[in-house]
Amino acid sequence: KDFRNNIKPNWCPGCGDFSIQAAIQRAAASVGLEPEQLGVVSGIGCSGRISGYINAYGFHGVHGRSLPIAQGLKMANRELTVLAAGGDGDGFAIGMGHTVHAIRRNIDITYIVMDNQIYGLTKGQTSPRSSEGFKTKSTPAGSIESALSPLEVALAAGATFVAQSFSSNLKQLTALIEAGMKHKGFSFINVFSPCVTFNKVNTYDWFKENIVDLEETPDYDPSNRVMAMTKIMETNGLLTGLIYQNTSKTSYENLVPGFKEEALAKQNLKISEQEFDKLVAEFK
Ligand code: SF4
Repeated sequence: KDFRNNIKPNWCPGCGDFSIQAAIQRAAASVGLEPEQLGVVSGIGCSGRISGYINAYGFHGVHGRSLPIAQGLKMANRELTVLAAGGDGDGFAIGMGHTVHAIRRNIDITYIVMDNQIYGLTKGQTSPRSSEGFKTKSTPAGSIESALSPLEVALAAGATFVAQSFSSNLKQLTALIEAGMKHKGFSFINVFSPCVTFNKVNTYDWFKENIVDLEETPDYDPSNRVMAMTKIMETNGLLTGLIYQNTSKTSYENLVPGFKEEALAKQNLKISEQEFDKLVAEFK
């Protein structure tokens, strides 16, 4: 199926976000979805535009709130494959509370962080993912804060699927998004997506020189949580591949008491006036 639409992205030429868009489109086709079976929810930032660039249901939400909307969408229609996407500022600053709780809730959605380590849309300020010493207009003397480690946070929050990739590696990125969509639970995928306009430190070449790919680590076992945390710390978070997956945990929507197999959006929820009054009385 074709998940492309006729809207031309207005990202800067060379922005890493183009590859993420292509990878989502390819992964959705490879999973065998029809466009009406996919919902893409985004927050605010350059990354936030992605929900408009994919031929699927799209919802461009507000800053840091892609996950509450995506979770609501999944609960209302469990038949949809739901994907949330946003930048590192969106997910790890204003949206951090939602990120941690969605991870530990293990609801069956895929969350892609388009991590460019800067605020691009507002023209280049330090973000939670910017390194210590990183100079921008908001930290002209260099950031005095440490960068957040999203993979450590995800593992510590109880994630059942943690992966990381790089915009330059479209094949791996597509395969990881496909695996995330198939995972029955919350899948967290952080993607190094260089901002070619404002981030002159974490460039494509910088990542190519510094990334450790787990595909070149033959003894790595992604079902081993301790090994995953150790590897993240050893590489200072600069690793790519499937880092951790636990397939034994039941996803949130299957544990909610009274939650039915039939999608809520398809159920006949009409009730009589008397039934409605009775329901309201229960909450008085
Ligand atoms: Fe991409 Fe940066 Fe341009 Fe935004 S400002 S579109 S993140 S290159």
